[in-house]
Amino acid sequence: MADLSRGRAAAHQLRRISVQTSAEWGRALRAHPRRLTAAIGSALLLSSAGAYALVEAQPQLPPRVTVATAFDAAVQAQTAALADTDQQFTQSTTVRRQDTVQQLLRRLGVTDPATVRQLGADARMRALVAAATSAQPVRAVVNTRGELLQLDATLPLPKDADPYAVAVWRELQVRPGADGALTLSTVERPMVVRTQLAAVPVRGALGAALAQSGVPAAVGDQLIKAFAPQIDLRRSLRKGDQVALVYQMQALDGRDMRPGRLLAAEVRSHGVVRQAVWFAARGEAKGAYYTPAGQGLEKAWASSPLPGAKITSPFGMRLHPVRGTREMHEGVDFAASIGTPVPSVAEGRVKFAGQQSGYGNVIKIAHPGGFETVYAHLSSFVVRAGQPVSEGQIIGKTGNTGTSSGPHLHFEFHAAGRLIDPLRMASYVPQGKPLPTGERAAFFAATAVMRTQLAQAAGSDEAVRLARVD
Ligand SMILES: [Zn+2]
Repeated sequence: MADLSRGRAAAHQLRRISVQTSAEWGRALRAHPRRLTAAIGSALLLSSAGAYALVEAQPQLPPRVTVATAFDAAVQAQTAALADTDQQFTQSTTVRRQDTVQQLLRRLGVTDPATVRQLGADARMRALVAAATSAQPVRAVVNTRGELLQLDATLPLPKDADPYAVAVWRELQVRPGADGALTLSTVERPMVVRTQLAAVPVRGALGAALAQSGVPAAVGDQLIKAFAPQIDLRRSLRKGDQVALVYQMQALDGRDMRPGRLLAAEVRSHGVVRQAVWFAARGEAKGAYYTPAGQGLEKAWASSPLPGAKITSPFGMRLHPVRGTREMHEGVDFAASIGTPVPSVAEGRVKFAGQQSGYGNVIKIAHPGGFETVYAHLSSFVVRAGQPVSEGQIIGKTGNTGTSSGPHLHFEFHAAGRLIDPLRMASYVPQGKPLPTGERAAFFAATAVMRTQLAQAAGSDEAVRLARVD
């Protein structure tokens, strides 16, 4: 208080000076040499544009009057400058790529060596700078001595966190403690998750259409990924197609801060309607997209264990390359150099992994729905009998073991105990990943609201229709 009123008094004095003679000016300068010099400096700095304009407008005035007028125009600044070292500034900047903690602090006006040393060595400050992903500004309050009085920064999500599942806003706060030393703390604030509906008419590129409708890019990415097993939305959509979306936004203090999960989507293209709803089955770490009827959009079966590999011997009757007799070839042979990783074509359980006469090293996998696949002549295994495997999981490596005329993979497909040509596998197996057993009721209960919202969004005639459901 005392400082402030002193500052005000000094400011008044200056104001008087501005219309007084140069003799009085000199007296004032002698009485308050340091303060006045500082005030002149900052007043000139802060109002140099104004002062310049005055010089232009009133060229007949002597220079000293011009300077005094500049003081008048910056009374606020003078007051602050004269109140002096307790002046505080609020600064803000964003973390840049290749930033160091020191560089960040310098931009915020923090020059106090002890603070720079302490924060430069702090793991959380370093993590904040290293992530460099947040567009959120880092805010700081500093004084004229370059000392940090307060710092607030948004912390990035942990690397392995599902950004759409975690609705927590994490902030790093730096505050002076009772002893004057700075203390750092992480503050977590729960966010409000809102559901938003959008109808997006496609006129050109999908990305542009989504952006025009205010749909965040991260939601667009989820949309493209959800339908990727069926259709490449980036290339296939044309003018006149329609996209409807139900997605989440994560909000803090009534402001949308982060896009959340895409819950449901409908794509109308060339008269074909495709729909997707998101569902996480009990006990599953990740959710997936399904049709409203509960058919998974993700492909459950790969088309081949070695897609693109040359077929050296098809399924059916043939002259055996080693024995020279005419017999049934029970699978397909794929050319592959020794050591090529072999994935399971679908989710299942290893029924057998070992040596078996002509097969050499062989793995047999039982799949849900009464299917079985066989991978023979392997050089090595990485699975054991009884082990569950997922689609695409590497189970072994190709080789030349057993009755084999050269390095290759022999692959068989059995449906309900019958041998089937593996090239016709796709017409036997389920198209999409089925709902986990016993999850049908939970699926329909969990997705009922999404299906209604999707119908609402899709049924809208407006270019963009937004609704919020808290
Ligand atoms: Zn074969």
